[in-house]
Amino acid sequence: MTETTADFHPLSDAVQPVFDTVRARSPHEPEFHQAVHEVLHSIGSVLEKRPEYVDNGVLERLVEPERQVMFRVPWVDDSGKLQVNRGYRVQFSSVLGPYKGGLRFHPSVNLSIIKFLGFEQIFKNALTGQGIGGGKGGSDFDPHGRSDAEVMRFCQSFMNELWHHIGEHTDVPAGDIGVGGREIGYLFGMYRKLTNQHVSGILTGKGIGWGGAQVRTEATGYGAVFFVQEMLAVHGETLEGKRVAVSGSGNVAIYAIEKVTQLGGRAVTASDSSGYVVDDAGIDLGLLRQIKEVERGRIVEYANRRPGARFVERGNVWEVPADIAVPAATQNELSAESAQALIANGVRAVAEGANMPCVPEAVEAFQQAGVLFAPGKAANAGGVATSALEMSQNSARQRWSFADSENRLREIMGDIHDATFRAAERYGTPGDYVAGANIVGFERVADAMIAQGVI
Ligand code: GLU
Repeated sequence: MTETTADFHPLSDAVQPVFDTVRARSPHEPEFHQAVHEVLHSIGSVLEKRPEYVDNGVLERLVEPERQVMFRVPWVDDSGKLQVNRGYRVQFSSVLGPYKGGLRFHPSVNLSIIKFLGFEQIFKNALTGQGIGGGKGGSDFDPHGRSDAEVMRFCQSFMNELWHHIGEHTDVPAGDIGVGGREIGYLFGMYRKLTNQHVSGILTGKGIGWGGAQVRTEATGYGAVFFVQEMLAVHGETLEGKRVAVSGSGNVAIYAIEKVTQLGGRAVTASDSSGYVVDDAGIDLGLLRQIKEVERGRIVEYANRRPGARFVERGNVWEVPADIAVPAATQNELSAESAQALIANGVRAVAEGANMPCVPEAVEAFQQAGVLFAPGKAANAGGVATSALEMSQNSARQRWSFADSENRLREIMGDIHDATFRAAERYGTPGDYVAGANIVGFERVADAMIAQGVI
């Protein structure tokens, strides 16, 4: 991705110098710049009303991670060849609680991507109200096409370094793209071996039989759909009978599809890097899970096995007409042109299931067209919120039921919706959930930073 000054709108006088410093100090990090710009843009009006944030240098401190770790991850593949990957953990802010955020294993991972994710995580985690700070990590390791044994050896080598930097009161990683139950298991096993301690609270997203929490697997997808429900409810609408386009076919997409279906909507698409499938009868969740979770296969398999479904190779899923869109694949997957296509087809609401899946021009287009738009910080916060519930259960040695956990998740998403909705009204941008989410997250973090002094 190339980047010029013209790529970013000018910011208010109070924040432009902060942004300029970020770009000068961390050049070649376009995704990080994009995430910082969005937050700085939203909080201009807050800084006018609350000069103490400027006086205390809150922004200058917030855009610089508290700590960044990069490390070598050597491992041996099944053919006996030595492989070397790069590992990352960016510990961005611990002012509200231990660093918390996932690990992403994907060939695209670099420092810019981990920093954008870590920065977003600060505000997302603040929005959950659960007392968790922000961090993110991962590696450029690609689990696709690797055997279980290779993934295990990689995870063990990764943890062989990471364990020095994490702790249940310090930093609690979890999953993200490429890191699910299998990887968390191998990582947890290695941590236990290295430390001779069974500390459940060291990672979240664990298996139910060994410290995991009910609903954690489903939480990000379910939470995004609960958020859509809340946005529609403001306008007296429901999900009943709505056609929903979902991108991705990982954890977030699968459980968003499940919740849409349970609430009377019809999810008609899923995708992966090879293309997308359309199933006008509604995605068969059992089949999708079999292909993606059990066989770890490609999405074309869905169309091969499901009568009436079709596969579009390397197509753009956002061309499919839908009332609601849930981008749940990866960052910058939904372009300005895709936004125009969705708008032309009458889309009513868009909720970011992934982190920053819509490019800034797409977000602007949705907002100008009056489409209800939920940014990832708010819409996909259900996953990390449920991770915090897992941490609570671990430290209290409790196990909550599925129903109790889901109810708690629904309440949290309702609270996030209401807080962001009210903040947008308070600052004169009613209905702007992007501004609302950035403002609420920022105020919570900034107030705590001022209270705790210059640290
Ligand atoms: N990776 C998820 C996110 O983007 C979850 C992080 C967690 O549970 O710690 O929020």
